[in-house]
Amino acid sequence: MTVKAILSTKGNETVTIEPIASVAAAAKQMADRRIGALVVTNATGEVVGIVSERDIVRVIAARGGDALDLSVESVMTRKVVSCTEADTVANLMERMTTGKFRHVPVIENGRLIGVVSIGDIVKHRLQEIEHESEAMRDYILTA
Ligand code: AMP
Repeated sequence: MTVKAILSTKGNETVTIEPIASVAAAAKQMADRRIGALVVTNATGEVVGIVSERDIVRVIAARGGDALDLSVESVMTRKVVSCTEADTVANLMERMTTGKFRHVPVIENGRLIGVVSIGDIVKHRLQEIEHESEAMRDYILTA
């Protein structure tokens, strides 16, 4: 299975934030949208980082409530691991496990076209397992 299959059911919506936005604004957007990470893009739409709930927890633990006024760019991860639609889900799982992160932006020809989370992968994997067991049951019943 490829990333393309996941995006075909999930859609291409991506929630982004600008680097100069505050940590408070990022937290609010994550809470409102019920997501755990935002892709950080500059004025030309280029991906310049990723900020996740873990970055926010880390900076609040270190600096207290004052951290909410910091900019997103001061707490985000700049070296973003991305993928393309053609990447396999197995490969993505491996990258997430090795890198210890749960979100991967999908970039095609320099353009952000989606985000795949560990939750999306688990959901698809469960569906796959369900289909496999259904096929096995049908096979046994009709054999
Ligand atoms: P997460 O597990 O996605 O909440 O992120 C854990 C940490 O990894 C945070 O510091 C994120 O900024 C960072 N991170 C999340 N996704 C990526 C990614 N695709 N590439 C690089 N770092 C990431």
